[in-house]
Order: sequence, then C-alpha cells, then structure tokens
Amino acid sequence: MPVDDRPPSTDDRSGASDAIAGSPVLVMIDCRDGSHALADIAAPQLRVDDFTVAHGDGVFETLLVTDGVPRKPEAHLRRLAASAAAADLAAPHAHVWRDAIATALRAHRACAEIAVRLVLGRGPEGSATGVAWVHAADCSGRFDAVRRDGVDALLLERGGDAMRAARAPWLLAGVKSLSYAVNMAALRHARRQGADDVVFVSSDGYILEGATSNVIVARRDGEAVTLLTPPRDAGILPGTTQAALFEAAQQRGWHSEYALLTPDDLFAADGVWLSSSLRLLAPVNRLDARALPRSPALDAALFALLDVPRAG
Ligand code: PLP
Repeated sequence: MPVDDRPPSTDDRSGASDAIAGSPVLVMIDCRDGSHALADIAAPQLRVDDFTVAHGDGVFETLLVTDGVPRKPEAHLRRLAASAAAADLAAPHAHVWRDAIATALRAHRACAEIAVRLVLGRGPEGSATGVAWVHAADCSGRFDAVRRDGVDALLLERGGDAMRAARAPWLLAGVKSLSYAVNMAALRHARRQGADDVVFVSSDGYILEGATSNVIVARRDGEAVTLLTPPRDAGILPGTTQAALFEAAQQRGWHSEYALLTPDDLFAADGVWLSSSLRLLAPVNRLDARALPRSPALDAALFALLDVPRAG
C-alpha cells in the first residue's frame, strides 16, 4: 500500500465558511513581525512568482499530533532552524512557530491523529522576508495499514556516493527542503513496479534512506538487540523519529549504531523498518521482491518504544 508523509490533500474543504476552523486548518505567519493569524485555506495566500512555489525554494517539517499532543516538537523546530540556516533563509523564532502550532491545533477539530506541516519559503523576488505557514490536517487512520501490514520496497539508486554531502553542501543533502519532486518520482516509479516504497542506495553501494523515511535495521544476538541506521553524514535527512527510537532503545538497554550498511546487511538482519514522523514505523516485508526477515516480537518491541498507535 502506498506510503508517504505528505499531509492529506486540502480538497476536503467542507464548507468554505468553516475553512478557518475544522480540518484542515491554516495559520499564516507574518515573517516581518512574527505575528500569526488563522487564514482561509480555500483563499489564495501566495503570489505565483513566489520562489517557494516557483523553485521549491524553502524548507519544511511535518510533525504528528496524537490525541492533541504534538510529538517531539522541539526536535522538529531544531531541524527546521538548521534547514533554514543551510538554505540561507531567515527563520521565525521557535516561539513564533510554537504559538502558530498552538493556534492551529486550537482551531482544529479533535482527532486521533493530526499532521502538522510547518513551511518556510523564500518569498517573491526582492522581498525582504520569506513566507511561512502552519497547516494542520486530520490524518487519523491513514497510516494504520502500513504500520500493521508493512510495505514492500524497491532499492533505487540515488546518484552520488555516500559521502558527497560533505564535498557538496549546495546539494542541501540532509536539509528538509521543499524540493521533493525527485523523491515523489521515485515513489511513483516504485508503485509502477508494484512496490510501495523506496530504499535509496548510493553509487558506492550503501543504503541511504527511504523517499520520505529513514531505514532502521535490527540485529538480535540472544536477548541483546542492536538497532542500526546509516550515518547522518551520508547525505540523508537526520530523522527525528529514528533519533527518538534510538534514545528509547538505549533506555531499554539496547545498543544503537550509525553504520554504513549494504543491501546484504538488510537481508541478513532480523528486521527492517522505515521510520518517519507521520507513519512512525512501517516494517519492510520485501526488498526488490525478496522477503526480508520479519519478527512480530521485534515489531511489537519497536512499536512500544515509540508508542505507535496500532489499529486492528
Ligand atoms: N528522510 C527523508 C528523505 C524524509 O523525507 C523523512 C521524513 O519526511 C525522513 C527521512 C524521516 O524524518 P522524520 O523521522 O524526522 O520525519
């Protein structure tokens, strides 16, 4: 089944007069003074010559709210600030985002799960400040199936070796930039081949990340469990979900490691998952149509570490 971490489409605009509250909800931030206001999601908000849309020149975050509580908001705000700095964008202060998120959630109807997207873009040519907004949309139930049933993934090359990020910072590797057209094209390619998701591989043969996720591997040695994921300097997005999982795993006495991994390491593992903020965890069932080991006990343990809601 398809998986991606884009918030639901905003076509569900039940009643434009209610567009300010309900779901989805939009809060526009004025980057000049840090003020914010609820806005009509069905009304135009950006100029067509805004580089945010014309070039995809901006950065973003997507965070999950479960039962009204945002998950790891500070990790998202830290990464947003780092992404903005890497892209030379002046970011509103963290308290501006926090207040705007709170306004969006107050206006949003109560839901089991809400996807909150924070966007910071360049603005039109010559503008002194960027554009920024918070978008909140109901995503309850959307990830139940992938969390429960897992996904099939294809290994796809991403071009470039695993260590290109340090040599070529302009590639914005590791930055959560708005330019996701390549990642979305990779997902469409995978779906045309009958898979659900993608695991990118570097030109020198190392596992990188999913199209919108990090790759988590578990190795068991008796009672001892080690979680592994590719190193952050391999030009991948430093995942907030992966970091939260590693922290919880360490507290449980498990080991965790950043390591260069090959496809063979995935086949030899005791379990492989894709992690990201909205889906949280999706076990990988098959890679390039070859079955990966699955362990219901490891699934249950990892899901408990992240407190993943599980339906059915
Ligand atoms: N890698 C990529 C390319 C992503 O797009 C994402 C999430 O959207 C991740 C990794 C996982 O990051 P996080 O767990 O912070 O959502």
